Amino acid sequence: MTEMTGTPSGGDVRLSGISRVYGDFTAVHPLDLTVPEGSFFALLGASGCGKTTTLRMIAGLEEPSTGTVHLGDQDVTRLPAYKRPVNTVFQSYALFPHLDVFENVAFGLRRRGVRSVKRQVGEMLDLVQLGEHARRKPHQLSGGQQQRVAVARALINHPRVLLLDEPLGALDLKLRRRMQLELKRIQTEVGITFIHVTHDQEEAMAMADTVAVMNAGRVEQLGAPADLYENPATTFVANFLGTSNLIEAEVVSAATDEILVRAGGDTLGVPAERCPVPAAAGTRLLVGVRPEKAALTHADETDRIPDGRNRVTGVVTEASFLGVSTQYLVNSPAGLGLAVYAQNVDRDPRLAPGAEVVLHWSRAHTFALDAAQD
Ligand code: ATP
Repeated sequence: MTEMTGTPSGGDVRLSGISRVYGDFTAVHPLDLTVPEGSFFALLGASGCGKTTTLRMIAGLEEPSTGTVHLGDQDVTRLPAYKRPVNTVFQSYALFPHLDVFENVAFGLRRRGVRSVKRQVGEMLDLVQLGEHARRKPHQLSGGQQQRVAVARALINHPRVLLLDEPLGALDLKLRRRMQLELKRIQTEVGITFIHVTHDQEEAMAMADTVAVMNAGRVEQLGAPADLYENPATTFVANFLGTSNLIEAEVVSAATDEILVRAGGDTLGVPAERCPVPAAAGTRLLVGVRPEKAALTHADETDRIPDGRNRVTGVVTEASFLGVSTQYLVNSPAGLGLAVYAQNVDRDPRLAPGAEVVLHWSRAHTFALDAAQD
């Protein structure tokens, strides 16, 4: 599945039918993608799905087997990497160890023969908040600081697009989260297009305006983070972005606003606009709900469940206390291992393994997938 986003304009990055084949292995299937100018775009997917190959084709470090790469109106497909108005930041930073921070950042200017570099390097160091460390060598910096030097060095020649290949991969989790905000701030300040490759779904959602979820060399779905999360189009996206409970169900009746399905003895309602296929009686669907949208009530107290919610009966098999929340797993005729994340403010101590429960959620939070898609 390939998709386009946005209307091509002056500085968009436009990939048309680009693919990459190695021998008899297709790393990237023909792909059409437009990255709007000035956006923060993430290519998200598991290891080996083709995201780095895609990025390298934009950079000019990898030749596409088919298709074209445009930057605005310019076809750059045959342009060598160093002639493209694009720069790349790698996970390894690739800083010059013998040069200090200032000289690392100044490098691109000096190579172009720019004599007076002080003001530009100073501005760049301010942007990445490293002004005080200008005379340090890379080994005297933390991982996050080294990464910021790499970003400053890549931005000094004012590329139109910055490509980031797992730039935070070597950092520990806390620093990683801090650097995500930092990179987002830098992108907003410089206003150029950032294309960021990551396998970390939280990272992609926290930073990007648009995320392309890749799987086995194809873009499975493209959209704003909240949209992808709320309306996953495939089982892969539903499970790669967070966790989803997916319940096998069969359509009983389809009205204009709501589809009723049967799942393990329970009847569930799905908003018609969230059903991806024409639904008629007998159509098989996977009905989905996110674990944080669902709640558990003890089977003795079902009269406390508000009307109009989807309900599934079951038995708690696991309750894991996680501090702010508890994660419950429930086996039900509708499905095994259904997950519920419940805030611990009003924790019911009876919701322990073995308890008979009703798992319930708002119909508005129900999505559906085509059961025949995979
Ligand atoms: P990772 O996060 O591990 O870097 P990725 O999604 O970026 O993964 P790519 O590096 O784009 O994946 O690789 C996609 C597929 O193409 C992988 O299966 C990889 O083994 C294969 N591949 C990449 N480069 C080559 C090459 N030069 N020759 C043969 N196969 C290659």
